[in-house]
Amino acid sequence: MNKAVGLVQVAPKQCELQEFSLPTLEEGAVLVRVEANGLCASDIDAYNGIDSYWDGRQRILGHEIVGVIEDMGAKTKIRDSFNVGDRVAVNPFVICGMCTACLRGDQQGCNGTRVRLRYGAVPTEVEPALWGGYATHVYIPPSGILYRVPDGIGALDATLWNPISGGYEWAVVRGGIQPGQKVLILGPGQRGLASIFAIRHAGADQVVVTGLSRDQYKLDLAMELGADATINVEKENLIERAKELTGGAGFDVVIDTTPHATQPLVDALEVVARTGTIVAIGIKNRPLDGFPIDQLLMKRVRLQGWVGQSNDSFQRALDLIGSERFPVHKLRTHVFGLDELGTAIDVLGGVNTTEKAVNVVITPTWA
Ligand SMILES: [Zn+2]
Ligand SMILES: [Zn+2]
Repeated sequence: MNKAVGLVQVAPKQCELQEFSLPTLEEGAVLVRVEANGLCASDIDAYNGIDSYWDGRQRILGHEIVGVIEDMGAKTKIRDSFNVGDRVAVNPFVICGMCTACLRGDQQGCNGTRVRLRYGAVPTEVEPALWGGYATHVYIPPSGILYRVPDGIGALDATLWNPISGGYEWAVVRGGIQPGQKVLILGPGQRGLASIFAIRHAGADQVVVTGLSRDQYKLDLAMELGADATINVEKENLIERAKELTGGAGFDVVIDTTPHATQPLVDALEVVARTGTIVAIGIKNRPLDGFPIDQLLMKRVRLQGWVGQSNDSFQRALDLIGSERFPVHKLRTHVFGLDELGTAIDVLGGVNTTEKAVNVVITPTWA
């Protein structure tokens, strides 16, 4: 095949297959044949055309990409260890590497104006058009960052590198989890559940996950993934259960992954141990009045906000998957083809309530 096929978003909730020429690869550039894409909540907003990137210009969505190197331009130093045929994961961001944010290691804060871009968010009119994972091929420019998928790990499991790396970033890097500590995850979504692996890997003594009654299947899954206990906050008193589970001391680290709801942040302060850490990663889209700020001071609690993942966390997540010590595949509940994107989005978003979704994958390999 000397053409690429991409699922192009032409309008909100409207996509069509289009053909593109395969690019000529300059030095350092790579062409990846896409095998699978993980989906996250940002894909729902993108599909609906309400994400911050959408400006009405056609684009190929998909930013949690795993595939096989099909072709490479002349090798640069950073491509030395890669070869045609290698399975790789693609960093969702192409960064400038030179701005203050990049130099600080804050890739997602990159404000380099010429090369900073995110896969799944670049118009097809920008050459060579193949900037999204919902396609047979994706183009990696010379500064694009690739990670080798460990030997023996298939493309579907490899796509879990994205949510699992979040666990590393939020719990281990930002939360500073130490062996023997007790950790509470508020919210059993894909990100909350995927955090369990990194927290276990870091040597935590206890991992507890909260959810609502409608999340029961996710709470059950949490136990299968390695949690020690779950709390249904609609049926149980969170604060009392937290005391019970921690011998009254509270959790060393509490991670709030819940979107929209602000009460979990107030609850986090109640159940965190003195001198403990709260990591806030759930976007609320609203301010929070009535936050008991004095309690934060008196308990000497560290409150850490964060979004996204760093290079190290991406790499550690792939190492964790490669170790095969954890049942990562259990996170994956659905796999759809490119032609089923609308259904995949409904399943992930819970619009289709008969499907019990956690991790949803789009794969173009039927093409
Ligand atoms: Zn994502
Ligand atoms: Zn930069």
